[in-house]
Formats: sequence, structure tokens, C-alpha cells
Amino acid sequence: MKDTSILVIYTGGTIGMKQDPDDLALRPFNFEQIVEEVPELRKFGCRIDTFTFDPIIDSSDVDVDFWKRLAGIIEEKYAEYDGFVILHGTDTMSYSASALSFMLEDLEKPVIFTGSQLPIGMPRTDGKENLISAIEIACAKDCNGNAKVPEVCIFFDSALMRGNRTTKYSAEEFKAFISPNYPTLAEAGINIKYHDPFIYRPQEWGKRLKVHKDLDPGAVILKIYPGIAPGTMESILGMPGLRGVVLETFGSGNAPSSEWFIDSIRKASGRGLVIVNVTQCMTGSVNMGVYATGIGLKSAGVLNGYDSTTESALAKLFFLMGQYPDNKRVKCEFEKNLRGEISK
Ligand code: ASP
Repeated sequence: MKDTSILVIYTGGTIGMKQDPDDLALRPFNFEQIVEEVPELRKFGCRIDTFTFDPIIDSSDVDVDFWKRLAGIIEEKYAEYDGFVILHGTDTMSYSASALSFMLEDLEKPVIFTGSQLPIGMPRTDGKENLISAIEIACAKDCNGNAKVPEVCIFFDSALMRGNRTTKYSAEEFKAFISPNYPTLAEAGINIKYHDPFIYRPQEWGKRLKVHKDLDPGAVILKIYPGIAPGTMESILGMPGLRGVVLETFGSGNAPSSEWFIDSIRKASGRGLVIVNVTQCMTGSVNMGVYATGIGLKSAGVLNGYDSTTESALAKLFFLMGQYPDNKRVKCEFEKNLRGEISK
């Protein structure tokens, strides 16, 4: 790891807090002195530089401008570093990891998001463990000297997961994230065990990174529920400027079969809205050919989100709508597997 260099980008969140021994108040941790604060990192012998966002943010304040900035930093520093570790609040980490996976095309270096449930400066913190393992993974190379994990990932509580497959699962357990529809990419135990068949490998190495910073946030998440009213559907689907909808449906992609409901979807889709079907279930995939309630949606023009997480479907819409001003093109692209975000 001697010649390896890693950039740790600290954006905010719980991980970056430390308890002041005098008054026990939580204050920001100084990541500029990361190696002094976490001396275990010296063992890697790699160069670790840091970049701290100004201001640091709670991840509830993440927006598309934040993603553009983050992608811009990676673009600017891409040639200089072998890997990137992004310290980020857990609350919206899955959204950010999904967005970055679409924004960074032909990525050949690891971009590992991590954070913690307890501040890094607390005695029982999970932050040190997460940070140390994330850096070790970001440094890892295969026998040809290529990155072992050239993907946007989340590392949390011993598990390395594809970022656009994750969802925040617990507000208090150390296992804060799961990857419900895709196997973990690695497990950190005594050693880090990589599950190579599931890790993305470029067909040919040496491509130039393309960074897509055009995002269009003109999409919403609409979770349906028993008793949803026509007025609710109308006002959401009729919002000015709306281009896309992630429709969170029941089970394998089902929704009310009432005429008014299917009609409101058909009309919105006919006006050009991109409506994508993802399930409210934690695991499994949408299949709009099973029940009449799903077939109705398909015939009304709804696209299949397969086993996508809601976070990933939304980020994919923002990304595709940013690339293509014409929704017809967005509809053509949406069902394709772009970054391993769906099983298809
Ligand atoms: N509210 C914090 C955030 O997401 C929680 C955390 O870091 O875990 O920024």
C-alpha cells in the first residue's frame, strides 16, 4: 500500500463528532488530523489526505447541488488518488451513493461512503471501525494493480454493499444499512473477504471517467396506500414542472384497480410523465404481469422499476432527466440496467 493514496472527503453527519473531555459537549472532529486522531491508520502506510466540506452538513440537508459538488471534487482529484472515502450522514447516504453511481460513468476507482451511528469521538463508536475498513477497501488492488472494487459503495458494520442497492434500515442498530436485493460485495472479519463474482469489473480498463453533473430534480416519490383519494393523485400528478414519478406500489407492483385511479395514471403518462413502479416491500421485484391490478398499471404506461430501491429509482430519474430534456428518451433508458442497480 506504500504508493497508494486515498482522499477522505468529510461532508458532515454523526461520524464527525467528538466529545470534549472538559464539558462533554459534542464538537466537530478535526479530519485534517485524521492520522493523529485514528493512529491505527498509520499501519496502512498509504497516503491519506482529507477534504472537509465548508460548511459540513447534516445529511438531511443534502440536495442536488451537494451531489454536483461532491462529483466535482472527485472529478478534480481523480487522477491524483487511488480511491475515495466519503464520510456522510447516514440518513440520506443511500440517496447520495445512488446519485453518485449514476453521475460517475466508467468509474475505475473505489468511491466508498461510510459514516457511523455513534460519533467517532465516543467510547463505543462504530465510526473508527467503519472508517478504517473503508480506507482499507479503497486501497485494495488486484494482482494487475487495478482497484479491487471500482464501484460506488457503502461500507457499514462489516459489510460492503453496492451503493445503489442499499437502503437505511435502522435508526439505532450499528447495522444501519442493508442491500435487500443484491449480495454484499465484501465482509470485514479478521480479513476482508471479497465476493468477487458480485463486484463490477470494467470490460476494458483505461477509460476516461465521465462525470455527469446535469441533474433534473423534477420527480417525486408517491407512495400509494389504501384509501388514497382522487384529489391527492390529481394534485400530485398535476404539479407544474413535474416530469417523473417513482410510484411505490403494493407487493409485486400492484395498485388500486378502480377506474379513476388507472385513469389518472393513464392521463399523466399520456401527458408525457415518466412513471416508474417500485415495490413498497423490502425485498423482491415488480412484476406487472401477474395480477390484474399490476397489468392495469402497465397498460396505463407505467415503467418497470424491477427490484430497484426507491432511493436508486429517484436518483436514476434525476440523472436521466438531466441528460435528456425529452421524456420519451428518459422512458427508453429507464428500464435499462445502467450501473448494476437492477437485476435484469
Ligand atoms: N442526522 C445525521 C445525518 O444523517 C445522522 C447520521 O449521521 O447518522 O447527517
